[in-house]
Amino acid sequence: MKRILLVEDEPGLVLTLRDRLTREGYAVDTTGDGESGLARAAGEAFDLVLLDVMLPRLGGFDVLKELRKRNVETPVIMLTARGQVVDKVVGLKLGADDYVTKPFEMVELLARIEAKLRRAPVTPHPTLGYQFGGIRVDFRRAEVTKEGAALELSAREFQLLKYFIEHRGATLTREELLNEVWGYNAMPSTRTVDVHVAWLRQKIEPNPRHPQFVLTVHGMGYKFAG
Ligand code: CA
Repeated sequence: MKRILLVEDEPGLVLTLRDRLTREGYAVDTTGDGESGLARAAGEAFDLVLLDVMLPRLGGFDVLKELRKRNVETPVIMLTARGQVVDKVVGLKLGADDYVTKPFEMVELLARIEAKLRRAPVTPHPTLGYQFGGIRVDFRRAEVTKEGAALELSAREFQLLKYFIEHRGATLTREELLNEVWGYNAMPSTRTVDVHVAWLRQKIEPNPRHPQFVLTVHGMGYKFAG
């Protein structure tokens, strides 16, 4: 069952939405202010967040900004009031996935929720390779190019990148990476993983100081978002 977090302070809308979404087969949790919304969205595993813009204590945009800053990549659909035209641009920049303007048709919202949740994970073709940003990875030839120019990756960096791509979107612990990419009997230290991630970032990230592909998941490990 997919879990949805609804962050909304209008009691009537909360009731309506919770009722309808529950009937559609979703597990719905609700919270009525931005602070608790942020805490729950960052601390628990939800498949989707419905986030109101005008919220007590912490506004929806601040919640969204903070979530993305913490590398929480849960899809977020913003609920905005009619006429908040400028909000759309702000929100998209902050990493919102979609918008629904109040008052909205329930079917429209349901369709958008479904679209977000059904976004199929990308499975790289083992022979064809994988592309993200300006990077192209050829698995067969073990070659990586950036904007058409060859990138010099060590064998280990290539294996690490391959593992990231194959597990795109999943949070990978250092222990898992160490075991899967280096093998059980290899280096004793998870620090090794951090060092190789740093090297990989230097090569594939447009701005290695602010990675957009190999993300740090604080207290957990790494996640590939390319
Ligand atoms: Ca509100």
